[in-house]
Amino acid sequence: MALPVVAIVGRPNVGKSTLFNRLIGERISIVEDTPGVTRDRIYGTTDWNGRSFHLIDTGGITLDGVDELQNLIRVQAELAIDEADVVIFVVDGREGLTVADRDVAGLLRRAGKRVVLAVNKLDHPHHFGAAYEFYELGFGEPIPISAEHGAGTGDLLDAVVSLLPAAEEAPQDEDAIRVALIGRPNVGKSSLINALVGEERLVVSPVAGTTRDAVDTPVEVGGQRYILVDTAGIRRKGKVYETIERYSIFRALRAIERADVVFVVIDGAEGITEQDKRVAGHALDAGRAMGFLVNKWDVVEKDDKTAHRFEEAIASEFPFMRWAPVLFVSARTKQRIHRILPLAQRLAESHCMRVSTSTLNLVIQDAVRTVSPPSDKGQRLRIYYATQVGVKPPAFALYVNDPSLMHFSYERYLENRLREAFGFAGTPIRLSVRARS
Ligand code: GDP
Ligand code: GDP
Repeated sequence: MALPVVAIVGRPNVGKSTLFNRLIGERISIVEDTPGVTRDRIYGTTDWNGRSFHLIDTGGITLDGVDELQNLIRVQAELAIDEADVVIFVVDGREGLTVADRDVAGLLRRAGKRVVLAVNKLDHPHHFGAAYEFYELGFGEPIPISAEHGAGTGDLLDAVVSLLPAAEEAPQDEDAIRVALIGRPNVGKSSLINALVGEERLVVSPVAGTTRDAVDTPVEVGGQRYILVDTAGIRRKGKVYETIERYSIFRALRAIERADVVFVVIDGAEGITEQDKRVAGHALDAGRAMGFLVNKWDVVEKDDKTAHRFEEAIASEFPFMRWAPVLFVSARTKQRIHRILPLAQRLAESHCMRVSTSTLNLVIQDAVRTVSPPSDKGQRLRIYYATQVGVKPPAFALYVNDPSLMHFSYERYLENRLREAFGFAGTPIRLSVRARS
């Protein structure tokens, strides 16, 4: 489920990105970040003493529109304040306390954030005394570190982990379907959320619990409970960083992590963009049930083939998601808004569908009879039997004579046959090919 977020904050040049790289190390980032910007990566996932968390290097959030250092620092700190459970506030122990440090401290204090103060660039233990000057910032004991050499980072991580919220044992509503709307800025996500919530009068009050719950909106329609994920984040408006692609991708990732069903919202008036594809790709990788909402359909000039052409464009731009249904909606006129949540329900059903082993094997046998499995050097792939090994998304294991004989194209063929037989609308399915032992 959702991992806590830790943000690294501080004025420029104190060593934030050095620390980020040190803490993330060679571990694999969850995000393929857009390269070519100042920093290669600004989000990553790491763990310490068995606690995993996301780490954000807010220093990597640079803003074209914001040239004043003062503003930049403020925006970066605000981002951390919005997003993070715990902030690592980095200062430069060699330069000592500066006005900019005090400004950042003020922002963090007013927001009531949990802060760990790291005094960096103390490369030798005999420099550690320099950390004490920072006591006056009021964030408890300053932790002397050297991001460059790795000194003190263990103590720093101990302090961070001790402040993380208790692992979400989730006062989870098991029957509720968690739905996320993702997409680039301005496609109409918050308008859709408003339409969904406004449309349905049976809005129940938020479940008391962790602070994160407050960002979700429960809705009940036709006896089915839904949780609209991260609605607070979607609705929060007017901050500069919302227009930054890497930031909106991070938001999307957080929402995807916490959802069962993900709707990719596309601006019908503007068409499909590269950013739409990236956002959708993340939900696909995460194995979520998915559909497309083509919004602003009210302003699209249409004839009787427009919707069909749009569907074809989606199919060709998102070739690995041909199973994802498309709904043409308008948050403004409310056209088809009432169909969104029932669709989510259908997708959620596919997502956790289990099929019987006997029917599954009949379908596979039939598929094999119709199109012979691939062969290589006189040896033909033989599929002995198949079994469903998981849900969310549905996952199947095929037991075969030699997995290396399997072809991608034959896997696609089998997947299509499974879809024809069982439906699986709106969910990815996974096939694994295993040698029968
Ligand atoms: P940011 O702007 O806060 O992200 O700072 P950077 O990580 O880019 O670091 C700024 C400068 O400080 C770079 O030249 C780093 O090599 C240097 N630096 C970072 N950490 C340390 C450290 O622990 N010791 C020393 N001596 N220099 C450091
Ligand atoms: P978000 O950034 O994805 O949350 O997008 P918003 O919900 O803030 O919408 C961005 C802009 O598109 C606003 O000016 C909305 O009024 C407008 N908008 C949203 N949905 C529709 C729609 O269905 N039709 C039209 N014509 N405009 C819409």
